Amino acid sequence: MVRLKPVDAVIVGFGWAGALLALELSAAGISVLALERGPFRDTVDFPPTSAPDELRYAVRHDLVVPPARQTITFRNRPDQLALPVRRWGSFLPAWGAGGGGVHWNGQVWRFRPSDFVLASRVAVRYGRRFLAPDLTLADFGVTYEELEPYYDRFESLAGVSGQAGNIAGRIIPGGNPFEGPRARDYPNPPLLMPYGPSLFAEAARALGYHPFPQPAANLSRPYTNPLGVTLGPCTYCGFCERFGCANAAKASPQTTVLPVLRERRNFWLRTDVTVLEVVYDRTARRVAGVVYVDDKGERSFQPADLVILAAYTFENVRLLLLSGIGTPYDPESGRGVVGRNYTYQTTSSVTVGFADKRLNPFIGAGALGMVVDDWNGDHYDHGPLGFLGGAYLAALATNGRPILNHPTPPGTPRWGAEWKRAVARSYLRTFRLIASGSSLPHRAAYLDLDPTYRDAWGRPLLRMTFDFHPFDLRMSEFVTAKLAEIARAMAPAWLTVSPRRGPYSIVPYQSTHNVGGAVMGADPATSVVNPYLQCWDVPNLFVVGGSAFPHNPAYNPTGTIAALALRTGEAIRTRYLARPGPLV
Ligand SMILES: Cc1cc2nc3c(=O)[nH]c(=O)nc-3n(C[C@H](O)[C@H](O)[C@H](O)COP(=O)(O)OP(=O)(O)OC[C@H]3O[C@@H](n4cnc5c(N)ncnc54)[C@H](O)[C@@H]3O)c2cc1C
Ligand code: SF4
Repeated sequence: MVRLKPVDAVIVGFGWAGALLALELSAAGISVLALERGPFRDTVDFPPTSAPDELRYAVRHDLVVPPARQTITFRNRPDQLALPVRRWGSFLPAWGAGGGGVHWNGQVWRFRPSDFVLASRVAVRYGRRFLAPDLTLADFGVTYEELEPYYDRFESLAGVSGQAGNIAGRIIPGGNPFEGPRARDYPNPPLLMPYGPSLFAEAARALGYHPFPQPAANLSRPYTNPLGVTLGPCTYCGFCERFGCANAAKASPQTTVLPVLRERRNFWLRTDVTVLEVVYDRTARRVAGVVYVDDKGERSFQPADLVILAAYTFENVRLLLLSGIGTPYDPESGRGVVGRNYTYQTTSSVTVGFADKRLNPFIGAGALGMVVDDWNGDHYDHGPLGFLGGAYLAALATNGRPILNHPTPPGTPRWGAEWKRAVARSYLRTFRLIASGSSLPHRAAYLDLDPTYRDAWGRPLLRMTFDFHPFDLRMSEFVTAKLAEIARAMAPAWLTVSPRRGPYSIVPYQSTHNVGGAVMGADPATSVVNPYLQCWDVPNLFVVGGSAFPHNPAYNPTGTIAALALRTGEAIRTRYLARPGPLV
């Protein structure tokens, strides 16, 4: 094995989390090396001629890690045999420079203040007896107020387009009245709204709800961010989710921070290298660096004073387990922390079809649409309902692409001439509304190492054991009925209502919002990292990303992943480097 020249900090993974840590740490003047298992990619790799290739990107998953390189095993319950995922379905883990930040939709959310303190709030509001005994709810260990400046910073780096609903406690018409107070408005105005989302908003408003535009990292106008990097305006091309942007109009690490990192002489990005292990000295309670393998199979030891894992939930947790860091979670005893509180997203939908309205679904962007937040989180009384959590309800113009989108009314044959006629009739007149719901942590949902299946380098695969908690399924029935209420008020010719039903299936796409497993918190008995995402057991190791969420609120995670990453980066830069050691 080659022993390389030491660096001050090594970052594993170069998605949003890794790029934002690189930005902060390299600003401190220390040497920073990011290691990324996938290929290098930049905006020029997505020219307008080939960027909207639906077969290549949306169907054949060109930007997703090939399962032959890296996969997981899955089962619903601990008494089942887990099997390897050989084609990604329910979620699409990224690889390559920029990670999922290249091919995400760009829906940028802040969690609500109550999401950060859910466990203690539920205990006070409903009493501990309300909680099912198998729930493992925990607070984040950081408050919304502490995170607000970092949300603000990410929104301005990414140039988010939106309409504020609450500036310093003042409710702003047209925004989300349920959001936490923000210091200022979004840097850019909302995107223009197409017909489908506008009809949804009209119907929701008539029912007394509070629709507002989805905050979007698809830019509504040209914008230069505080680093001096300029992004272009979105053309509503519709090839956004699962695609790179041909117009540099979607915020990604490449379009926001990479141009600045390229100029820094103390930052390096090495691609096509897979980190196999974090080298851990248990006696010294220190990590010494990482071992990685390149595409020729050559292994190297990269020494570093500081190691940052930013390799997405699955590899963050797996690398901890493979490196013997922290106590693995044991579902029998409930003890141990690494792998604990894996959660997902409980999604559902209602499809509406019109006889007389042309909705032009080919006009779209990743985060283009209208949202209703009235049935989300804990701002309504769950006492009589028998579940916790909720969902945002939305009409998003995101997926009008021709190969994967050909909706038909109920009762249409699945193939043949009648199916073709129905597709031709329905394409322009159909819209899918969605509910993006929360996911509660429970004792039997966790990540560990698979006892049977191994990867190309002989290391155990990560094993996922997951099913929705009964509270999540009850919640889905409830919020999907609310979504159907709005759908009916849109006066469609037909509609279908699809709440999420168990058991969880790993096959149809639901969301790439896999979180937990290396959770943050104020108590080392129930968390892997402290509120600065610093490993309790090993102060020179930080684990950054959605792996830190102790539960998953209904919103997409990246805004919060980014805010936490920026807060961690700042704490390392301003405090840890001056005095290396525990930050709390
Ligand atoms: C189709 C799609 C749409 C999405 N839309 C949204 C959205 O609208 N809003 C939202 O909030 N979120 C969305 N997401 C989720 C979002 O992409 C993720 O939350 C976000 O990208 C996570 O950032 P990250 O840096 O933590 O991880 P990633 O972006 O996954 O980056 C981690 C990087 O680490 C690398 N890596 C992993 N293991 C190793 C290893 N062993 N060695 C070296 N490198 C390694 C990976 O290759 C990857 O590039 C979407 C995801 C997908 C797939
Ligand atoms: S919809 Fe807009 S942001 Fe998305 S890929 Fe097209 S131009 Fe880029």
